[in-house]
Amino acid sequence: MNIVLFGPPAAGKGTQAKRLVSERGLIQLSTGDMLRAARASGTELGTKVAGIMDRGDLVSDEIVIALIEEQLDANKTAAGFIFDGFPRTVAQAEALDTALTQRGMGVNNVIRLCVDDSALVNRITKRFAEEGRKDDNPESFKTRLANYNKQTAPLLPYYSAQGKLTEIDGMADMDTVSKSVADVLNANGHGQAPKKASFWSRLFGRA
Ligand code: AMP
Repeated sequence: MNIVLFGPPAAGKGTQAKRLVSERGLIQLSTGDMLRAARASGTELGTKVAGIMDRGDLVSDEIVIALIEEQLDANKTAAGFIFDGFPRTVAQAEALDTALTQRGMGVNNVIRLCVDDSALVNRITKRFAEEGRKDDNPESFKTRLANYNKQTAPLLPYYSAQGKLTEIDGMADMDTVSKSVADVLNANGHGQAPKKASFWSRLFGRA
């Protein structure tokens, strides 16, 4: 099962992805986390993307697509992936489809977390005060939101046309949002509920 968690910055994608990792044994692929790790370890890639990230702009499609492909190949036996913060452009979505198809997979569900801009600004102001992430400063955040609307939101019709998109209310508390995510996955045949006893097993007391 491969899931794309979709939404603007600070919509709660990372939090929901981590919950799916622990509940369903999926692997979270967050390009933002990968790029931050590259910066923290001072690699050439990290140095190259630092300024772009701090401004709130998108790094090139080539860079993030390569990071994703590397992880797909490093986790060949995974039960599935949660794509968090990727894809962010139509070119990335097309590359993801190609990369998954080449590996005998596909995107199963795209879940959009819908959150008002004013709520996003409040969340990010709080996170900036608590964690001091450079790209959470008000100017960079404005750029990130503008980039989301210009480059990432056009992906919605792309996935909607494939019949994979479900929108959920991302304004609710974390547990309610998790429940909505689970409902979407269960409705699409990815439930975790224990197998219901069959008529015969109920009659004879064995499976
Ligand atoms: P995030 O933590 O997902 O908000 O990502 C932080 C920053 O990393 C973004 O503002 C971009 O500069 C960069 N980034 C992360 N994912 C992508 C992506 N899929 N495409 C381009 N840039 C990305």
